[in-house]
Amino acid sequence: MPGTNLTREEARTRAALLAVDAYEIELDLSSAREGGTFRSTTVVRFTSTEPGASTFIDLVAPAVTEIVLNGRALPLENFADSRIALPGLAAENELRVVADCAYTNTGEGLHRFVDPADGETYLYTQFEVPDARRVFANFEQPDLKATFAFTVTAPAGWVVVSNSPTPEPAGDGDTRVWTFEPTPRMSTYITALIAGPYVGVFDSYDNGAQHVPFGVYCRPSLREFLDADAIFAVTRQGFDYFQEKFDFPYPFAKYDQLFVPEFNAGAMENAGAVTFRDQYVFRSKVTDASYEARAATILHELAHMWFGDLVTMEWWNDLWLNESFATFAEVVCQAESPASQWPHSWTTFANQMKTWAYRQDQLPSTHPIMAEINDLEDVQVNFDGITYAKGASVLKQLVAYVGQDAFFQGVRAYFKRHAWGNTRLADLLGALEEASGRDLRTWSTAWLETAGINVLRPELSVAADGTIESFAVLQEAPALPAGARGEAVLRPHRIAVGLYELVDGKLVRTDRIELDVDGERTAVPQLTGRPRPAVLLLNDDDLSYAKVRLDADSLAVVTAHLGDFADSLPRALCWASAWDMTRDGELATRDYLALALSGLQRESDIGVVQSVQRQVKLALELYADPAWREEGLQRWAAAAQTALHEAPAGSDHQLAWARTLAGAARTDDQLALLAGLLDGSVEIDGLAVDTELRWALLGRLAATGRADEAAIDAELARDNTSSGQEHAATCRAARPTAEAKAAAWASVVESDTLTNYVQEAVIAGFQQPDQRDLLAAYTEKYFASVKQVWETRSHEISQQIIGGLYPSYAVSRATLDATDAWLATADPAPALRRQVVEARAGVERALRAQAADR
Ligand SMILES: [Zn+2]
Repeated sequence: MPGTNLTREEARTRAALLAVDAYEIELDLSSAREGGTFRSTTVVRFTSTEPGASTFIDLVAPAVTEIVLNGRALPLENFADSRIALPGLAAENELRVVADCAYTNTGEGLHRFVDPADGETYLYTQFEVPDARRVFANFEQPDLKATFAFTVTAPAGWVVVSNSPTPEPAGDGDTRVWTFEPTPRMSTYITALIAGPYVGVFDSYDNGAQHVPFGVYCRPSLREFLDADAIFAVTRQGFDYFQEKFDFPYPFAKYDQLFVPEFNAGAMENAGAVTFRDQYVFRSKVTDASYEARAATILHELAHMWFGDLVTMEWWNDLWLNESFATFAEVVCQAESPASQWPHSWTTFANQMKTWAYRQDQLPSTHPIMAEINDLEDVQVNFDGITYAKGASVLKQLVAYVGQDAFFQGVRAYFKRHAWGNTRLADLLGALEEASGRDLRTWSTAWLETAGINVLRPELSVAADGTIESFAVLQEAPALPAGARGEAVLRPHRIAVGLYELVDGKLVRTDRIELDVDGERTAVPQLTGRPRPAVLLLNDDDLSYAKVRLDADSLAVVTAHLGDFADSLPRALCWASAWDMTRDGELATRDYLALALSGLQRESDIGVVQSVQRQVKLALELYADPAWREEGLQRWAAAAQTALHEAPAGSDHQLAWARTLAGAARTDDQLALLAGLLDGSVEIDGLAVDTELRWALLGRLAATGRADEAAIDAELARDNTSSGQEHAATCRAARPTAEAKAAAWASVVESDTLTNYVQEAVIAGFQQPDQRDLLAAYTEKYFASVKQVWETRSHEISQQIIGGLYPSYAVSRATLDATDAWLATADPAPALRRQVVEARAGVERALRAQAADR
């Protein structure tokens, strides 16, 4: 029984048999305000290399009412198991399928959302990986490209956006019909439809010869917060940069960006109709790090218009390359474009992407970047830190290895050669080899076909007078967790070594040596005979992907002066190294806290500040010795309170510390401060207690039993929006009572009516590290229900529950034993097993780190 799965082998067979020409798709969305189902009619023309052969087309729908192949009606029973069997193909085929498809509330397929602010209905599609088949019958695999002509019937007065430019609607009465021009040839997963009374702002990209219309859309209730000009500015920056670097004009007719509700990912690269989570329309003050993240997402999706949409992976095993390229392109554009507002983007990359990659690469589920993707279930759990973050890190290393000019030269040849087609990794590597003259086979095997992180350590010998006698870089093979796939190998690393001195209180780089590290020991004779600098930093500029350790003297200087590096990137590398050592139990949590308390005072990069704040909280909750934990949490909360009062009025730092205190407040005095800020009896100069901050304050008061249901209802009355409803759900689930926990649990596990966003909000409130006693009873309940959840819920919904409700804060041998007992007896499917094993690894790591902190 394939269920909704599709294997790579089936896809290969089907691609060998078929060539798809064109789809005509009619969708009747006149029922959208009521919900339920909608009528979907697909006519697809395709050829078969083997007349008489059979194949199938994909469809996930409550009902099919008509299947006509080449003028012959097929029995409706041919629709089973999310497929329609198509026997007796001709050389040239025309298939017509009429189905009743369902609106969803999970963010998959055609998502339907009703805005409490205006009572209106808003729709959008999300199709990656295999969910176009929830909206129309199609051959759902990326290498069966075709043209798509959508005809949409929808309520009059709506805005309807798709991949092709929006036509004038026709008709009268309550509905209108939008007849879109056919798209260029593309994959099913990047087709899109967004419909509802959205509002748009328009502009264009013009450079003499070229005119590309721009649109930016959101719900009317967010319109007052939509800073379209800032979004257009970043988009224009990307158009300039990518068109020059790729030497290929933007391939589609227009570029719309739509901010949509309850979106599961950050954004989706639908061709010419990119969708974004609408939290990117900021309705309260956010720090500059949020603007930077939004700009990065805008550039990431734009890069996909070439890499992913114009040239597309043949199968999902190259998803990593698709994502890594877009991520690399986004960061390099920010770093190098003259229009960039965030030229320190490699610092942010080191701070966030690298940290994510290192974490994921140490889980038992880690895998080579080139993962075996045997079927759709494999790919759905593979949108992970290896695919996005390690892949992008390794791509950065590849660029350092071949040189950036050669890299882009190869990329230009690749786009010209494969435009509108499908490719494999070898096609890109081949183009890079031609451009650079370097043989990439050894590089590719070592980096892409193996898992884990090498450790680079300095081997340093210094004479009595402070002169370096010898210096070498030692490389260790990755310590792969038990059960991990792949071989532990040494790799070729292109790295820089930075030499830093303390000058007028600042750590300033005085020299930089770039070299190839290969094998176990690489001598660096250039340093022999020179005076030992204050800090020797391996992997300076973050060119390679490795854990880096400092020699004892450098570590002492960095510990005392972390905030004094003149540049943000080495600071970010040292912060990352300290965090990594804490996670590995090489640095006690209490020492990491001490480092953070001193270093954060001088850290100017707000993105780094916010990351360290999150990491300190996590370390205290999970990695601190339980006997000392309360003392650590008290020190952290007190420090946040002091920093909040000392931060410059109106600064991002002030907001970041206010949010940190809202998560950390413990004493009566601190909680009274939160309550005072919320009721207006206390004011802090420059701090705007706006909608989102109010919810953060209330969340902590609810979790500590100082805000009751009435207070939550009152706040929701002030902010009766979808975001308000989600925050209220978090607050209710956070309350420290057995009843609140039971209600939250029941709404998520025992009922399936919550939307993706509300469910996520309830889970966030339910899990409170301060409520370990209240939550203890739920370990057993979790294992009693998790398999059924996985079997009966959609992928997105079950993934939220499996990871979100795992007893992560119950750091104990008993939790590990309960997990092992379940793994041994429940016979979970591989994708479910993987998620539980990953969650278990968090507890195991926390136990080790707690021992180190003792
Ligand atoms: Zn992407």
